[in-house]
Amino acid sequence: MKRCRIALLPGDGIGPEVVAAARTVLNAAGFEADYPAGRVGWACWCESGDALPPETIETLRGCDAALFGAITSKPADEAEAELAPTLRGTGRRYTSPIVRLRQLFELHTALRPCRAIPGNPLNLRDDIDLVVFRENTEGLYGGIEWHPLPEPLARQMADPDTGHPAKMRRWFDAGLESVAVSTRIMSRAGCERICRAAFGYARDHHRRRVTLLEKPNVLRETGGLMTRAFRDVARQYPGIEAAEANMDVACMHLVTDPTRFDVIVAENMFGDIASDLAAGLVGGLGFAPSSNIGDDFAVFEPTHGSAPDLAGQDRANPVAMILSAAMMLRWLGETPKADAIESAVADAVAAGEIQTRDVAGPAGRGTTTGTAALIAQRL
Ligand code: ATP
Repeated sequence: MKRCRIALLPGDGIGPEVVAAARTVLNAAGFEADYPAGRVGWACWCESGDALPPETIETLRGCDAALFGAITSKPADEAEAELAPTLRGTGRRYTSPIVRLRQLFELHTALRPCRAIPGNPLNLRDDIDLVVFRENTEGLYGGIEWHPLPEPLARQMADPDTGHPAKMRRWFDAGLESVAVSTRIMSRAGCERICRAAFGYARDHHRRRVTLLEKPNVLRETGGLMTRAFRDVARQYPGIEAAEANMDVACMHLVTDPTRFDVIVAENMFGDIASDLAAGLVGGLGFAPSSNIGDDFAVFEPTHGSAPDLAGQDRANPVAMILSAAMMLRWLGETPKADAIESAVADAVAAGEIQTRDVAGPAGRGTTTGTAALIAQRL
């Protein structure tokens, strides 16, 4: 079998620590690969004015998959202020590298399993096992935004034939300088693709129900488009129950009655919210793996961010990153090694060996390195 090339993008904060932990476990599982590293994230932005430099993109193009740690993102004014002095005022704009990666490599599907590992003291309940499919390239995180509102766009939005003149008056009166716009652009193709991914997964993994989380009663155009796509795709999977829920109510039900969900599908931002919420039911961000999957490339990352409060202290829980690495092995067809890592994690949790700060509180004894070593020992 050809030796894999896995790009390592550790990023910021706890990213480098959890990526190192995942490598320890991948080695212990006997997965042999080359691991070229790439620079990405906030520190990279501050030094070079680009959070995803061209050489990193080049490295990724020569790899089978990537392991992504975490990156720090800050608002536009801080992005400018923290740039190296020579780069300030040169018109550079910070864009989230993970959002760019998803768009550049068409990583259209974010698959985020949220399964309670028995014995985890942080589980809300032990019987939760749901999977979130989040559309990864469009919607509210599509990156089409303006501030101030450009005049031609404002005119178009106020056009009596095609726009909303009465609604726009308020913002016109405020002055275009004081108006910002983030769009929620969704395509029929994008909606169908994520719904097909969710139903296909449900069929292949004997799941009983797929639930769409949307808000078509308010977001009538984008929500309506997604709902119609969902219903059309659902008709092609008659053995699987198709359910629809408004995003806000679904948040409540995820907490009060999580077992009513099985496979969840949602656009980009709703899927982001649903997966963080679901992660909170099964141990929190330290236990939540995630993947960004395209047709021929995929990036695996924990759901959590760079957790600056824990960075550099060897205190972060590496399990989310380790389970993300197991997902990568599964995607590469290395099923027995993926199974072995997931069993090792489950055994370590059941034995009470995961004692990082998120599990054990301030008295936590476990370190990122120590936890990875304990899991590796079981392999
Ligand atoms: P982002 O916007 O990138 O999602 P965020 O600041 O909203 O980032 P995170 O960085 O994911 O959120 O973390 C929120 C908090 O959760 C952290 O401050 C940290 O206390 C806790 N946390 C996150 N990941 C871990 C982990 N792996 N182990 C332990 N605690 C974690």
